[in-house]
Formats: sequence, structure tokens, C-alpha cells
Amino acid sequence: MLVNIVDRSRNGTFVNGNRLVKKDYILRNGDRIVFGRSCSFLFKYLVDGREEKDPQTSTESPGKEEVNDLFKRPTLSSQTPMKRPLSLQRRSFFDRYIPGKELGSGHYAIVKEATDKDSGDVVAVKIFHPQQNDDQKKTRQFREETKILMSIQHKNIVKLIDRFVEPVSKAQIQTYLVLEKVSDGELFDRIVRKTKLRQEETNAIFKQILNGLKYLHAKNIIHRDIKPENILLSIRRRRYQDEQQMGPWDDDEIDITIKIADFGLAKFIGELQFTNTLCGTPSYVAPEVLRKTGYSSRVDLWSAGVLLYVCLCGFPPFSEQLAPPSMKEQILQGKFAFYSPYWDDIDDSCLHLISNLLVVNPALRYDIQKTIEHPWFSHAPQTTRATALPLQRKSAEVGKIPKTYSEMSSLH
Ligand code: ADP
Repeated sequence: MLVNIVDRSRNGTFVNGNRLVKKDYILRNGDRIVFGRSCSFLFKYLVDGREEKDPQTSTESPGKEEVNDLFKRPTLSSQTPMKRPLSLQRRSFFDRYIPGKELGSGHYAIVKEATDKDSGDVVAVKIFHPQQNDDQKKTRQFREETKILMSIQHKNIVKLIDRFVEPVSKAQIQTYLVLEKVSDGELFDRIVRKTKLRQEETNAIFKQILNGLKYLHAKNIIHRDIKPENILLSIRRRRYQDEQQMGPWDDDEIDITIKIADFGLAKFIGELQFTNTLCGTPSYVAPEVLRKTGYSSRVDLWSAGVLLYVCLCGFPPFSEQLAPPSMKEQILQGKFAFYSPYWDDIDDSCLHLISNLLVVNPALRYDIQKTIEHPWFSHAPQTTRATALPLQRKSAEVGKIPKTYSEMSSLH
């Protein structure tokens, strides 16, 4: 049984410092409740007069039918034994983790640090905005699909450790994703800070991104939202002057591990909302997603092509600043160019790779295997001049080169 608290007071009821304003709220273990100014309580569920013990069973949280069950009054009949309380069968997020400081927030969720009460491990928890609890089938499907995501284990993919769906009111649920914490920020911030990345650095970062994508695609998982905000970095910093670097990183960095975040996001926020959000900011989105004509794993290779372009020159290949035609139309037509002087010093073989990723027809676009096998990854980057047409550098019309991410962020 769960306890639902409704505020009917004049002086206010506060849970964990927040006032309940005409809302009901399901209490969790450890919630601090303050009535008016006079007294405060730490809330704890008791089971049959005993303090609740952590059950050893599943961590899954209730579906709609079960959530509704929680609000039924217990029947006190001697013939029908009372159902085993749900709180005994399933643990809540708050039973296992202590939430900490905020790490960031995005479109659908806020991300906080959290500590595992048993192991002391520090993790990241992504807390989605509350959703209507209106479809029981969806909840079951959610559990099935997230089970697959939790089985994913790869050094270049942010590990999904656990997930909880918890009621926040009679009508609403909240999803919590417990994730491996990645401490050194997003690739996006690195591009903004440096304006653009060096070619060797980009090459080394991409090898790791492609390794992660290969693993996902082999499991028939399509990421669908590859962009620099979803590539997280774990950096091993230099501690001694003569420490050997493990890659083409900056002087103070010994090694960088790339972690792809946010895979399978549609499962957590719903297909429709996800697709609409993607199409709302299409910079990295493949043409077939914009057309809504069905898509395959090759959408990730298109986005990887856009990302590769952005890393090397600091601005995107498709942009409203290049209009006309509109950004959407540029994407649908695959209309982009390598502008001089920005691309003059970039290896031809890299331009060749990008040109084979930003291909409108997915059947003709490189797949993950062809991308990994591309010569740009096996030869040391070198600067040679192109002769073939698609690789030619183009001079841009004056004032038409898009602003770099770095310039855009300094405007804010
Ligand atoms: P949304 O998908 O809703 O846009 P994000 O996934 O972008 O939310 O997360 C928001 C912020 O939280 C970002 O700044 C990101 O860097 C940070 N973040 C997300 N996942 C992790 C993680 N596993 N470890 C550390 N920080 C993370």
C-alpha cells in the first residue's frame, strides 16, 4: 500500500522543501514532510507494524492496474487473506538511491547524481517529466523493451543500470533511468570551447563512436539521435609530466573514452513525442526521418556524417543560414558543400567519407561496416588535393557561412 497525501491546509504542506499546491503526492520512504511551521516528519512505510525491509525481488514498478490497486482500501475480511503489499514485492528508486546534485537538464528530463545505498557507487539518474498513466499495455511493453536496453554492455555506450516507473499521483507516473555517470561533459561543449577539433582528434573520437554504433546495430538497436550533445566524454587527466599519452589528445589529457548516451530514448518518452522533437530541430536528422517514410539503422550513419562535418569545421552542413532553400529542403536534397578555406586542410579521404554518409538514398549510404572500413580510419590523415567533383572545396557567398557553434554560444 502507498500513502497519497493531499494538501487541504491554509499554512501549506511541504514535502522535501516543496509546497504541495492543490496536488496529491505519493509519499516515499525518506520524504521530509512539514506541516505549517510547527513540525517536521521523516516518512517511512511500516509493514504490519514492522519497518519495511528491502525485498530481494524485482525492482520493477507497478503498471496502471497495479497503481490503481494501491488506492483501493484494504479489505479486512477473515476469509480472504490480504494481498501481499506491493511495497514488499518491489523496491522504489528512493529505497535504493540517494539523489544528489543536478548534472543538467534537457528536453524531456532532468539528470541528477545519485548514490547507490548498498554499494556507495555514484550514478546518474535521468528523471523524466511526469507522464499520464493511461495505457497498461504500454507499461508492459516498456518493461520488455527496457530489459533489452539494460543488457547492453559496451565501453563506448553509457550503461543503463536500472529503471523505475513510479506513480507520482493517481493519474501520473514518472520514469527514472539509472545510468553510468560520465564525468567530463559533452562533445558539444568540447567543440564550442575549441571552435573545431583537430583532424587526428576527430578521427580517434569517431573510431569509438563507430565501435559503439556497430555494437548497437548488431543488436538491431537504432540510436536515432546521434548529435554532439549525446556523446559524453570520460577523460583521464595527466598527473605526471612524463606520462605516456594514449591517443592524439590535448597535452593535459592521457586518454579519452567516448560514451554514446540516450540510445532507445523513444522507449522512455513515447514514439510520437520523440519523432516530433527530432523533426523540430532537424540539424542531424536523416531525410527519411523528415519524410516519415520509415527508417533503418542508416539514419545513424547520416547523423554521424553531420557530426563528422561539425567536428572538423565547427558549423553544420545544413543550416537556415545557408537558405534558400530552407534547412529542411537542404536535408531532403542532400545539398551541402565543403567551403573553402575551412576545408582546405582536411584530408580528401575524410571528405570522401562524409560524402558517402550524407547520401539521401539510404540504400546508397554507407552502412556501419563500410564506414569503419573506410581508409580515413586506417591511414594517418594527410592533406592531398581533390580532383573529383563531389570533393571539391567551394567558395561560399560572402556572409553565407553558418556561424560556428562557438560563435553562436558566445552570442547568448
Ligand atoms: P535530454 O535527453 O532530456 O535532452 P540529456 O540526456 O541531454 O537530457 O541530459 C541533460 C544533461 O545531463 C546533459 O547536460 C548531460 O550532459 C547530462 N547527462 C546526461 N546523462 C549523463 C550521464 N550518464 N552522466 C553524466 N551526465 C549526464
